[in-house]
Parts: sequence; C-alpha cells; structure tokens
Amino acid sequence: MITIGILKEPSFESRVSMLSVEVAALIKSGNTVWVENGAGARSFCSDAEYAAIGAVVKSRAEILAAADIILSINSEDIPSSLNGKVLIGVYQPLFNSPLMADWSHQGLTVLSLDMLPRITRAQSMDVLSSQANIAGYKAVVLAASIYPHYFPMMMTAAGSVAPAKVMIIGAGVAGLQAIATARRLGAVVEVFDTRPAAKEEVMSLGGRFIEVEGAADVSKAGGYAVEQTDAFQQKQKDMIAAHIKKTDILITTAQIRGKKAPVLVTREMIAAMKPGSLIIDLASATGGNTEVTKDNATIQSGGVTVIGNSNLASTLPADASKLYGKNIANFLSLLVNDKGDMAINLQDEIIKATCVTSAEKAISSSTITLIHHEHIA
Ligand code: NAD
Repeated sequence: MITIGILKEPSFESRVSMLSVEVAALIKSGNTVWVENGAGARSFCSDAEYAAIGAVVKSRAEILAAADIILSINSEDIPSSLNGKVLIGVYQPLFNSPLMADWSHQGLTVLSLDMLPRITRAQSMDVLSSQANIAGYKAVVLAASIYPHYFPMMMTAAGSVAPAKVMIIGAGVAGLQAIATARRLGAVVEVFDTRPAAKEEVMSLGGRFIEVEGAADVSKAGGYAVEQTDAFQQKQKDMIAAHIKKTDILITTAQIRGKKAPVLVTREMIAAMKPGSLIIDLASATGGNTEVTKDNATIQSGGVTVIGNSNLASTLPADASKLYGKNIANFLSLLVNDKGDMAINLQDEIIKATCVTSAEKAISSSTITLIHHEHIA
C-alpha cells in the first residue's frame, strides 16, 4: 500500500491539492495519507477535518522524508534531495527546465498534470480545465465588481443604461466560461479565437464570434493552439483594434503551450478604449496578451485598469481544491495496480505525456523505469 503526502502550498497559493472527501476515499482503498500541518486551512479544510477521516497530520519534513507520493500544486519549496519519490503537481516543465533537470538528476519521478494529453480518457484528470473554468468565471465576476457601470441593460423610470460590451480573446475552457458568465449577467459578448472549432461553441453560448481568416492549422496540435504567422497576427490585430474602441471589458486568455503568450493588444489599442474600461489578462504568467500587462499586478494604462492574474482559481480555493483533488484522485488510480501497489506504466499514453522525469526505483514492490523527456537537456 502507498503512503501519500499532501504538502502545504506556498504563501501566494490558497488551494490545497486534496480536500478531506478525496483523502477519505484513498484511505478507504487501503492507502495511508499524511497531510502537512495547516495544508488545507486556506481552503477551509482544517487539520481536525483531515484527522477525523483517518489522515495523519505531520510536519513537512516528515512527509518529504517518508511519503511515497507527494502531492503539491506548485513547485516552490520542494527540495531536490527526494531521491526515489514521486511528485505530482502542476510544475510547468516547459518553463522550468532547470528545476526539472535538477529533479531528474536527483532521481525523482515527476508527473506534471499540465502536460496531460487532450484525450477523452484524460478529461476527468484535467486540472488545467477544472481550474481554467473557475478562472473564466471569476474574471467576469471580478470585472463586474470593479467596472463602474451595470453589466445588463437597464430600462428604468430614471432612464436607460446600455449593456456592457465584453470582448474575450481566446475561447478555450476559461474563455468559454467567461462568455457564459458575462452573458448570464446580461453583457453583449464578442469573441476572438484562432481555432475554427471555437466558433460553434461561442455562438452556442450567445457570443458573437469574430472571424479572422488564414489561421494556422491546429489539427495536429493535440487540442492546443499553435503560433500564427506574422501576416495573420497583423490581420488579427487590425480586427481587434477596430472592435476594441467599443469594448468596455476585455478578458484575454490566449495561450500557446510552452511558449510566451501572443501579444495581441497594443498600447495604442488600450489608449483607444473608453476611460473606466477594464482588462483582465489571464495569460499574464506567460507574458500576457497585452503590451502593458504585469503578472500579479493591477496597473492603470491611461483611463484603463489592467489586471494581470493567471491564478484566479486560487481566489475560489474551496471549489478549486475540491475539483483539483478529484482530478488528482482520478490520476492516482492510473498509478496503482490490483494489489494496491504503485505501478507506473510509462507505456500508458497519459502517464507517458505527464511524466517529465523518473528514475528506476522500487517502491511498494513496483518498478519505475528511467525516462528522460526531450525537453530535459
Ligand atoms: P488554452 O488555455 O491553451 O488557450 C486558450 C485559448 O486561446 C484557446 O482556445 C486558443 O485557441 C486561443 N488562442 C491561442 N492563440 C490565440 C490567438 N492568437 N488569438 C486568439 N485566440 C488564441 O486553451 P484550453 O482552454 O486549454 O482549450 C483548448 C482546446 O482544448 C479547447 O477546444 C478545449 O475544449 C479543448 N480541451 C480538450 C480537453 C480534452 O479533450 N481532454 C481538455 C481540455 C481542453
């Protein structure tokens, strides 16, 4: 049987990788679960709640020293001297090569769930989707609370108010949820995306899809977007510039896996927006979709407020942790054999894609094979 350790996240993070309900299920299946003191506090799951369902509350040092599998969402504050341990989280290996190389040289097995393939079997484990869904919702709710006007159209005895005009760039999981939420609040929504498949989804949510012809083919990119040609980007920018003047709230989510986010909104475009308008850039961690975005910061660009935040899911920590933990529980079921021992099958399409590095090591009578992914130099 396996000992699973849940670490407390760094101070900027309010989520925890598993709440007590999923921990209880793991314990019921015969596993031991250790939880770092205070790990769930910011997600409203106390040490006492974990202890009540049979988890053992321990210090970080004890968990790092003796758990077989260590769960953490972020890569911060995890020592590299954890030879033979299995780490599961969202470590952004394509942006964190030095750390991944370090972990690899130290013999850790690292499974990073942001590398999941976009296949049906992986959907229940897809942490990017469960968290992006929250981010898209929260972006609109945040915008509505800051925007100095109504979202819906109002017709009152004192006069009429026009509905807010929202533009969304990137209709992936976050963008689609943002469209749905903005529509629910009564806004008029215009949407840009480079994937032709997005058009139908946008329209079904009541958004207006603005088509820019000539986008690169994404059919071989496994569900992810790809970089566009300079000519296309210019055409797209011209189209955004034409529409942004009338936009009150812009929410940007455009990302390309492993690459800097495309800069689609220039300073001049922002200067053309009305005073009091608002931009929420969810791609800020990878550079942002506007020329002025600063990650984890709110700035003023003329009369426009620009918020860079790629971790909005963390502002709904209880639901975010609940869904993240369920994703992890589903993923863990892939790593265990019939006897309840760890059996990491690197031939499995999902494990192969998520396994950044691993070292040959027997844990609970199973064997982990050495692999080195091409992005670890
Ligand atoms: P993402 O976070 O990688 O990117 C956000 C959106 O930005 C995408 O829709 C992308 O096309 C768009 N984008 C990129 N460059 C752009 C540009 N220059 N201009 C405008 N838009 C641009 O996307 P995501 O949320 O991960 O979703 C991508 C797709 O994968 C969606 O169709 C989603 O439904 C699908 N998906 C499938 C699975 C699965 O089958 N397991 C899981 C998750 C997502």
